[in-house]
Amino acid sequence: MEFGLTEELELIQRLARDFAERELIPRAARHDREEKIDPEVFQGLAELGMWGLTVPEEFGGSGLSNLALCVVLEEINRGCASTGVTLSVHNSLVCAPLIKFGTQEQKAAWLPRLATGEILGAYCLTEPNSGSDAAALTTRAVKDGNDYIIDGTKIWVTSGSLAGLLIVYARTNSSLPKAQGISAFLVDPKTAGVRIGKKEMKCGIRGSPAVEVLLSGARVPAKNLLGTLDRGFQIALDTLDGGRIGIASQAIGIGRACLDASIKYSKEREQFGKTISHFQAIQWKLADMSTRLDGARLLVLRAACLRDKRLPCGPAAAQAKLAASLAANFAADECLQIHGGAGYTDHFQVERLFRDARITEIYEGATDIQRLVIARSLLA
Ligand SMILES: Cc1cc2nc3c(=O)[nH]c(=O)nc-3n(C[C@H](O)[C@H](O)[C@H](O)COP(=O)(O)OP(=O)(O)OC[C@H]3O[C@@H](n4cnc5c(N)ncnc54)[C@H](O)[C@@H]3O)c2cc1C
Repeated sequence: MEFGLTEELELIQRLARDFAERELIPRAARHDREEKIDPEVFQGLAELGMWGLTVPEEFGGSGLSNLALCVVLEEINRGCASTGVTLSVHNSLVCAPLIKFGTQEQKAAWLPRLATGEILGAYCLTEPNSGSDAAALTTRAVKDGNDYIIDGTKIWVTSGSLAGLLIVYARTNSSLPKAQGISAFLVDPKTAGVRIGKKEMKCGIRGSPAVEVLLSGARVPAKNLLGTLDRGFQIALDTLDGGRIGIASQAIGIGRACLDASIKYSKEREQFGKTISHFQAIQWKLADMSTRLDGARLLVLRAACLRDKRLPCGPAAAQAKLAASLAANFAADECLQIHGGAGYTDHFQVERLFRDARITEIYEGATDIQRLVIARSLLA
């Protein structure tokens, strides 16, 4: 059993860490305040090959593993969680299903531009009345000659307003049980009948836009069907297994930023004639934060290894996301407490970390849904 990273992974980790230190940490507060990510960041990530990390080299990507993606996402999210989720969604929720389920023609049409960051990807599953119960979606795709006509409303689409490719899940057969009659479509957002609606005002990850995508009579060529007709929900679920590993990495990255800030502040802030790091109550908080984060990271790396080996990883991914998101929120809460009143203001960046950590318990399956997946596999 080997716990260390390979030389190649250490190198990738160093590249991502240096980028985060140099380009993200100084910008993260502005991304949050101005609700957008600087274009230089998109460019910098492109230069490092981060938009196509797991895309095969023949399509212009870096051809790396899910493990490498996790290592990168932890570092990028330690620097800026808005940038981190943009990168995670693009790689895990858009490039990954296209690599796994796309035809050669579909891959050739989209992957090279996704891999260089020329276009961003977005994942359109959630609807106003289908969140955790994603199979209840009502967006419809009806065959018309060589096209499908898609009608429906998608909400909370991360990067939807920036994207050059949408993967849209729509019902193609209402006579089948609800999870069976769903298909996935590759949709160009410039298609007539596709409109970007309201942008949400969010608690955290404010640099990453989450928007409505409104489809009204959107005509999509039948060749843009991803995978098998009526079997799209399996693609959505398989994709989410990978996505959850990515969000778990995001959570560890945010949690590590909290731990780093807490260590630094506790060695600087003096009360009762000594730095607060001398108080056992503070030391125990630091010890608990690091133990929970390190434990969760092992679950994340295990889930990524399973996925790389193409072994079933649903419950492992759910455990990783559950443990990592709880660890991150614990770390964010303790970090704010260690900073006292200053933590509750914008004097330090910890109130942003506190807000950013919160989403990791909600998207790509809320905490209760992860527990449900884990319990189902135990009881099966
Ligand atoms: C910032 C942000 C970005 C997002 N990005 C995307 C995106 O890019 N693409 C996309 O498709 N979606 C996206 N989402 C949607 C996200 O995945 C959903 O918000 C999430 O799946 C939860 O659904 P919901 O919000 O409708 O909550 P609900 O499903 O209404 O759940 C409400 C509460 O009930 C609990 N609950 C529900 N069912 C059960 C159950 N069976 N047992 C126990 N508890 C249960 C939940 O855990 C939760 O606590 C995003 C959401 C946010 C907030």
